[in-house]
Amino acid sequence: MTELQDQFTRRKFITVTGAAAAGTILLNGGLSNPFAANASKGLETTKAKLGYIPIVEAAPMIIAKEKGFFAKHGMTDIELSKQASWGAARDNVEIGSGGGGIDGGQWQMPMPYLISMGEITKGRKKIPMYVLLQLNTHGNGIAVSNKHKGQKLSLKVRDSKAYFDKLKSGGNKFKAAYTFPEANQEFWIRYWLAAGGVNPDTDVELLTVPSAQTVANMKTGTMDAFSTGDPWPYRIVTDKVGFLAALTAEIWKNHPEEYLAIRADWVDKNPKATKAILKAIMEAQQWCDNFNNRKELSQILSKREYFNVPANILEGPFFGKYDKGDGKKVDDKSLAAYYWKDGRGSVSYPYRSHDLWFLTESVRWGFLPLDTLDKANGMISKVNREDLWREAAKELGVSARDIPKSTSRGVETFFDGIKFDPKNPKAYLKSLKIKKVSI
Ligand code: CA
Repeated sequence: MTELQDQFTRRKFITVTGAAAAGTILLNGGLSNPFAANASKGLETTKAKLGYIPIVEAAPMIIAKEKGFFAKHGMTDIELSKQASWGAARDNVEIGSGGGGIDGGQWQMPMPYLISMGEITKGRKKIPMYVLLQLNTHGNGIAVSNKHKGQKLSLKVRDSKAYFDKLKSGGNKFKAAYTFPEANQEFWIRYWLAAGGVNPDTDVELLTVPSAQTVANMKTGTMDAFSTGDPWPYRIVTDKVGFLAALTAEIWKNHPEEYLAIRADWVDKNPKATKAILKAIMEAQQWCDNFNNRKELSQILSKREYFNVPANILEGPFFGKYDKGDGKKVDDKSLAAYYWKDGRGSVSYPYRSHDLWFLTESVRWGFLPLDTLDKANGMISKVNREDLWREAAKELGVSARDIPKSTSRGVETFFDGIKFDPKNPKAYLKSLKIKKVSI
């Protein structure tokens, strides 16, 4: 399709949906979107069931649905299914949509790998999955209960190391929670603690709590800190039960966060429909990154069927404005959540080098054996389908400069100066003082 034709169809699309919204829907025989019916031609299916968790990572999927991008690309029957927890999402993808579950959706890393390897499924059954697109960077934080105010708990934990030691020797270890074990949120909290000399395996207690329950658990004092996606860490501040010790954007600027992954059998059977889903989410990601849309984005996400929280809780962080609740305020757009492009380039493209970091971090903490590193590239080439992302991006007409040249983003630098070179993950592990793996 030429750019001119593309512009024409875009305009036509806007006209058609506008007319439908104005009530002329019956004039075309009840078909709400004739353009979408046209786009559906040639697709293996128009239907998929995608799971999501009500945190900012889900925004591109919700926007693709709400702003008509799925329909525009012919996927007129996408069902977004809110998941009660990551464990529920895992169980639902295991049974698939045919069994009343889901075909795929939003995931923390390395969940699609752990499901593919049979590490976290029932009976260790291997369910191959494909990582297709990164949903976002940033948008996560570490919240700490107000009872620890005044203990200098911030990004640099080293300043309050003595306090952690005092709690431990008093038989009352600091309790930190995440939403699912051995994935992003546990990695962020472990990285943050270990960088400050606090051993997450011996100096604190770690536990799993679903994101929707995090505020309640903090209120009842069953935990001292947690790490998850917005709006939950920020709600702690607005509900006056805690403060934000660190934003994940401060721990690792432009860090990889959550991903779209779908069962491999579904993608293999429906390659064109998969690319239609990718194109729709890519357009939604571009829409989300336009700051002129972020007020509307907050309003859409705040709806009862999605996050069910006041829109003003979402709005500040979407502009990089956080009241951290300990007298500190952040006003830095570069720390906001990004969906299409951030300070390091493409957000949407699923870099293989990032999958490798998540697997390396799994080895660091003993979640996966050391020999995982020898097999990692083989595993990544099976699970990570950046080739489909590239095909979809080209079909969408994404400019060549927005399509990464390499499958690696290159060397990554963390807030404590530690570097991860994807060419040498063992050197990264060796450079870390606190770890479980012997290397
Ligand atoms: Ca997250």
